[in-house]
Amino acid sequence: MRVTVRIDRERCIVAGLCMIHAPMIFVPEEADGKPAVAPEYRVGPQPDVGEIPRELLGPAKEAEANCPVRAIQVGR
Ligand code: SF4
Repeated sequence: MRVTVRIDRERCIVAGLCMIHAPMIFVPEEADGKPAVAPEYRVGPQPDVGEIPRELLGPAKEAEANCPVRAIQVGR
């Protein structure tokens, strides 16, 4: 079973915490340093939506909980 992750890149202030808590899921975009879903977990051409395996739910939830502007959504 897979879990959806989303990044609101408009809301993101590049605090970087998601990339610390879940670096296997959230990687910095070269253009602006904002996080993108790692290419292997993207569901389409957009960098802000992906599906991760359930085993990565823990770090994904950590990233969601620690984002200061609530720009990460996991499983919704
Ligand atoms: S933790 Fe939130 S504000 Fe910080 S880089 Fe990630 S999405 Fe952006």
